[in-house]
Amino acid sequence: MSASYPFQDRPPLITVTPQGLYCAPGDFHIDPWHPVERALITHAHGDHARGGSRRYLGARTGEGLLHRRLGADSAIDTLPYGERLRINDVTVSFHPAGHVLGSAQIRIEHQGEVWVVSGDYKRAPDPTCEPFEVVRCNTFITEATFGLPIYRWDDTRLVAEDILRWWDANRAVGRSAVLFCYALGKAQRILAELARLTDRPAYVHGALNSLVAVYREAGVKMLPTQLVSEVEKGTSFAGALVLAPPSAGGSTWMRRFGEHETGFASGWMRVRGNRRRRGFDRGFVLSDHADWPDLLRTVADTRAERVLVTHGYTDPLAHYLRDKGVDAAPLATPFEGEAED
Ligand SMILES: [Zn+2]
Ligand SMILES: [Zn+2]
Repeated sequence: MSASYPFQDRPPLITVTPQGLYCAPGDFHIDPWHPVERALITHAHGDHARGGSRRYLGARTGEGLLHRRLGADSAIDTLPYGERLRINDVTVSFHPAGHVLGSAQIRIEHQGEVWVVSGDYKRAPDPTCEPFEVVRCNTFITEATFGLPIYRWDDTRLVAEDILRWWDANRAVGRSAVLFCYALGKAQRILAELARLTDRPAYVHGALNSLVAVYREAGVKMLPTQLVSEVEKGTSFAGALVLAPPSAGGSTWMRRFGEHETGFASGWMRVRGNRRRRGFDRGFVLSDHADWPDLLRTVADTRAERVLVTHGYTDPLAHYLRDKGVDAAPLATPFEGEAED
């Protein structure tokens, strides 16, 4: 790591304003939490894509999800990954973040200085989206949702096999298996991973169904799905796999499944107490964010001279990087990290 930042005589290219991350030479915000004139959006999760702004710009493969999140009437422009666009005094481009369909890191170049805003990202393979692209930059703004050394993920294939074994075991005794997961991204990733192992159909909650449809339109291969609410009354769910958002847990919606087990697929399941406290029968450790080793690897891969940490465990990650000689600091924002991941 170099001793001093090569552009330290300049004002920072991105600052935190009450509306969100702001790039003054480009006069736009990134993932703003209040309405602005021009918003560049990393991906369609609710804490990044919020309605009310006048114009939006996102990665092209995320267009369907952005319209669903922001409303069909929103003014959404898109750019293919890697294509450069001049906005006022800066050049911007979107690069795959590997997080969910259409998720992007945003690269901003101004007079030879390059900043990359990672948004949420992961390095693990995911059949539902383009793999993360390493983008060389001077300042890297990284997320830190799982920025603690305890967070390490297993191979996704093994997790998918584990989910199938759990489904099979419940099926063998006539129980249904209700698997809770984040409605955007995780559910589709599970359906895509399982499609490599079986062709049995799965049932889905209404909150997931329209998002599954967007992924299908984008050409993602997943298990066949059927909407729970469209199943004829009195039909037995014995032996079925049901995907639902965590909010459906404990609701009256659950009654129709009769005897069942519950599972939760999330990075938070790495901590055993989380599963017990929330009362799930099974926890599957599956995250759409980088684990601790991949956060460190990514910071190194970008060869950034400075790292700003936001979204999640900002202080522990920034502290660790500083101890290793990296010019790193937390960047205080209202992003809280994804509790449902
Ligand atoms: Zn996200
Ligand atoms: Zn997020």
